[in-house]
Amino acid sequence: MTTIASKLQSVRAQITDACQKCGRQPTEVTLLAVSKTFPAEAVREAALAGQRAFGENYIQEGVEKIAAVQAMADVPPLQWHCIGSIQSNKTKLVAQHFDWVHTVDREKIAQRLDAQRPEHLAPLQVCIQVNVDGGETKSGCSPEEALALAQCIAALPRLQLRGVMSIPDPQPSHDAMLAVHRKVVAVFDRIRAAGGVGLEQWDTVSLGMTADMQTAIAAGSTMVRVGSGIFGARDYSSQA
Ligand SMILES: *Cc1c(COP(=O)(O)O)cnc(C)c1O
Repeated sequence: MTTIASKLQSVRAQITDACQKCGRQPTEVTLLAVSKTFPAEAVREAALAGQRAFGENYIQEGVEKIAAVQAMADVPPLQWHCIGSIQSNKTKLVAQHFDWVHTVDREKIAQRLDAQRPEHLAPLQVCIQVNVDGGETKSGCSPEEALALAQCIAALPRLQLRGVMSIPDPQPSHDAMLAVHRKVVAVFDRIRAAGGVGLEQWDTVSLGMTADMQTAIAAGSTMVRVGSGIFGARDYSSQA
């Protein structure tokens, strides 16, 4: 049986390897463990193996899991990232329970998160989701809209702007995938070059999953979101 601890170790080794191949330092890339559909016990196992940052897609599931994990006496404090698309009626739960959100793609969602972030918590860390390859139905703002959205978020006091996030579709070749990943990094670079107030912590490119993390790292990702590579295949059959 392959344990979560050993799979975590192997994913970390893959990150180190990918960094070495492109001349980057492994410390430049944060591993986000995507625990969606897996129980609190799986998070506990990963946490006891040293993992600290966890990502959840489904808000309600995430909020329940955060509470369950916080009640476990042997689990240290963890960092929780919301990486699923957010409807307006879910912003309050995100603002109250998560440390990061990667999927802000319009001003209205940013404004609600800002207004609903509790005063006793640190500002919510925010990435702008960009859509570099899809049609209009895919979530994420267009690369052209990203700068204006960044400026909007930078002006909101309870939000801390961190960078961009994207979920590119799989491509038929490594080169095609790399080209799409580079488009995301180009959006990140363009906003940094534009500068401005609120960009002091503009340091995050959330890009790459189990299947494409090496390519994403080669393109400049600073945070890979890995689910099945750590926890195994997902089973959605029990989901409503
Ligand atoms: C599920 C998910 C992941 C992790 O996917 P794996 O292929 O299991 O690594 C990463 N990012 C987002 C936004 C996801 O929804």
